[in-house]
Amino acid sequence: MATGGGWAPARSVERHGAPPPRGGGGGGTRSKSVAPGPRRPSPSPARSRPAPDNGGSSDSCRVRVSVRLRPKNSEDLAHGSDFDSCVELQPESKRLKLKKNNWSCESYKFDEVFSENASQKRVYEVVAKPVVESVLEGYNGTVMAYGQTGTGKTYTVGQLGKDDPSERGIMVRALEHILSSMSFETDRVAISYLQLYLESVQDLLAPEKTNIPIVEDAKTGDVSLPGAAVVEIKDLEHVFHLLQIGEANRHAANTKMNTESSRSHAILIIHLQRSSRIKEENSSLSNDTHNIFPDDLPLVLKSKLLIVDLAGSERIDKSGSEGHMIEEAKFINLSLTSLGKCINALAENSPHIPTRDSKLTRILRDSFGGTSRTSLVVTIGPSSRHYSETSSTIMFGQRAMKVVNTIKLKEEADYEILYKKMEREVDQLTSEMERQQKLIKSEKMQLDKKFKESERSFHDLRMTSNIRIENLEKEKCQLESTVKTLMRDLEEEKGQKNLLSEQIAELEKLLNKNKQQQQLENLSRTKILTDTTKEHEKEMEELLRQLQEERHCSSSLKDRMSVLQQELCDAQSSAQLQESMARELEKKLTKVTEELTSQVQSLKEKISGLISEKEVIYEELKSTQEKVQQEMWQRQGLEDQIRRLERSTSDNYAEESKTSYGMVRSGSGLGNAAFVSKSGKIREALSGQRGTISKIFEEVGLPNVLALLKSEDLDVQIHAVKVVANLAAEDINQERIVEEGGLDALLSVLETSENTTIHRVTAGAVANLAMNGSNQGVIMNKGGARLLANVSSKTEDPQTLRMVAGAIANLCGNEKLHLMLKQDGGIKALLGMVRSGHADVIAQIARGIANFAKCESRVISQGHRKGRSLLIEDGVLTWMVANSTRFSASTRRHIELAFCHLAQNEDNTCDIIASGGIKELLRISRESPRDDTRNLAKKALDSNPAFLREIQ
Ligand code: ADP
Ligand code: MG
Repeated sequence: MATGGGWAPARSVERHGAPPPRGGGGGGTRSKSVAPGPRRPSPSPARSRPAPDNGGSSDSCRVRVSVRLRPKNSEDLAHGSDFDSCVELQPESKRLKLKKNNWSCESYKFDEVFSENASQKRVYEVVAKPVVESVLEGYNGTVMAYGQTGTGKTYTVGQLGKDDPSERGIMVRALEHILSSMSFETDRVAISYLQLYLESVQDLLAPEKTNIPIVEDAKTGDVSLPGAAVVEIKDLEHVFHLLQIGEANRHAANTKMNTESSRSHAILIIHLQRSSRIKEENSSLSNDTHNIFPDDLPLVLKSKLLIVDLAGSERIDKSGSEGHMIEEAKFINLSLTSLGKCINALAENSPHIPTRDSKLTRILRDSFGGTSRTSLVVTIGPSSRHYSETSSTIMFGQRAMKVVNTIKLKEEADYEILYKKMEREVDQLTSEMERQQKLIKSEKMQLDKKFKESERSFHDLRMTSNIRIENLEKEKCQLESTVKTLMRDLEEEKGQKNLLSEQIAELEKLLNKNKQQQQLENLSRTKILTDTTKEHEKEMEELLRQLQEERHCSSSLKDRMSVLQQELCDAQSSAQLQESMARELEKKLTKVTEELTSQVQSLKEKISGLISEKEVIYEELKSTQEKVQQEMWQRQGLEDQIRRLERSTSDNYAEESKTSYGMVRSGSGLGNAAFVSKSGKIREALSGQRGTISKIFEEVGLPNVLALLKSEDLDVQIHAVKVVANLAAEDINQERIVEEGGLDALLSVLETSENTTIHRVTAGAVANLAMNGSNQGVIMNKGGARLLANVSSKTEDPQTLRMVAGAIANLCGNEKLHLMLKQDGGIKALLGMVRSGHADVIAQIARGIANFAKCESRVISQGHRKGRSLLIEDGVLTWMVANSTRFSASTRRHIELAFCHLAQNEDNTCDIIASGGIKELLRISRESPRDDTRNLAKKALDSNPAFLREIQ
């Protein structure tokens, strides 16, 4: 492949001017006139070769124009008679008749007309072959196809016919022709295949190359496209290959008329370079040339052939183009229009040819006119449906034929054209006249119509005017009557107005009057105001005066205040005086106090006298107590008697039990109601004693008696304890003695005293107090049991031990105190007193144990406590088993009873068995004098399986 610029020969000969006439085309219309010749400045004559003048006919330079009619296609056939052929060919006369309608028809003469049956070969030979031959001789040549889309431009020019040689179009045939005519040793042939689309030159062999610039040689006027690919070809296969590539790259737009139609111009440029010697041999060069160039000079002939497949010539709207396509068609039209203009200008021999208006005309610039032999084939379709396009195509061809005009041709053409022109003009004028007449007629009709309408409307107007006049008359009458009425109303209103005016005048008078009155009132008010103001002024003056007085007052008060301050100072000084007086008084008071102290002293002396008197009384009390002591002994003797009597009696247990609680009292020698009741003598004696004690108690008072318990004098203390013990024997005194501190005093005495009498009597007193249930707890809490136990351990006096045992026995009757009693050594002390062996003491011990066992049994049976008896640990059970039968009946009963109660508790079983108690229990169950005791023993034996087993 080489570019256009790469073919630089050693020397080249360029040819200008028209090539020699070839073929048989156009002979009939050849005129005598001379062709206008080349339009561009001629190159130097030394370098150019004039065109051979074969006969000197100017017609030889004219653009050859042929018409080719395409056969009817399926579309034409489908539309049938509606689209009958509008074209009729007269090949003999090379004429074409274009039928406008059935009565109008035009005839055109061409260089050649090809019927639908014309072969590709014939078309080539007539249209292209003469051009190709002149190209082979070194002239430039151009073959163009022009026509409406779908009429066979591409078929005529670009059909490949690779497989069917008869189908081959001008391009293939031209190359075939050149290839067969040239020598491959000396000549070269190359092609460029371009497309002009939207005023842009694209390379169909190298599609990447777009917008290829068109370059014109300023000297020679030659046109070249240096950017385009130039491909040298050697054979026909290569030709097919390149043309196929080009065709594939060709941008084809779909249109309504033919989907294969191209919207672009396809331009095949065949560059030919031939050695001149061969030309010499072919004797193509003139003698003149030989004269200029020596024979041995190697010359190169350069020529080019342009084969142009133009875009469709149809109008845009017909092709159905739209949007982008409109822009496209505008450019296609630009090139074609420009081509048409150039052809027109050339045909009319115009001094200016507008070749620069479009790219197409720029490329074709040196192909049109003098430097190139040009052949144009216009293609048309047969269908009358496309009459206008066909017509315009034909007219284009006709104009192109005039590019080189001849006078003769002009003359010849004059008659015909004039006739046709006149005919056309007459036709036009006739149709115009007819149109005008129609116009006038229609205008006249319209005017008539308007006139009638105007008449009608005038009539209507008159009618309506009459009606309106009548209505106006009526309205006028109505208005007149209305005016009259209004006038009447006006008159009435005038009268009323007058009346109102009078009223207004009266009102004005009234108003004036009122005004005067108002003025008078105002005057009086002003006067009053003045008076009031004066009064206020007076008041103000008064107030001012008062203020003045107040000020005076306040200043006098200030004076007084200063006087008072003075007085205060005086008072302060007098106070100081009084203070000194007070000091003196104090001194006096001290004196008086001293005197009083001496008086108190004398009074104290008197008191001591009284105390001595009191001692005398104590002495008396002492003797009385001694008497009481004596009586006590007497009572003791009586009690012994009573006990003896008691033993002999066989009273029931309940009674005895009751009595046992009273034994302490009888034991204490302070009187026992139960026994006293049985002996009137004793009762009398006791009541006598009680009477004495009550008398003492009433006279001295309990606090004083209790105070004497702390007396340092032993006798006094003994007597006091005796009195308290006596008092404690009475139920009513028991709580009071405790409340007033008697118990504390007694326990203190019991603790501190070493005296046996004191111990005995105090223990008796405590025993008596312990008879009271509410006192028992207090005694225990104050450590009574411990003190009693302590006393019992220190003395062997049976009476004291009896009192102590009695007291503990009483406490044993309270189950709530059992544990404390045991812990304080009460039980141990009780059992310890057995050592005395004295019946009375043992009787109290047995009573205490019975009390304890009975209460404990009750508590255990009620489920308040569990475990073995508290008595067992201190050896009570053992003592009971061993000594039950040793003592008096009453003591024995107490022991048996206590033993039976212990046997009721299952937790004591082991201890009872261990101590040999079963035997005793059996004995009691059989021998006890009391039924209830026996039953209790039996119950214990029967209910306890361990006992039963022991018995067996
Ligand atoms: P255009 O040059 O306007 O694009 P084409 O060359 O593409 O038109 O022709 C349109 C169709 O008509 C194509 O199918 C073509 O083969 C067919 N055709 C055109 N002219 C002839 C003819 N003379 N003989 C047979 N078929 C033809
Ligand atoms: Mg085409």
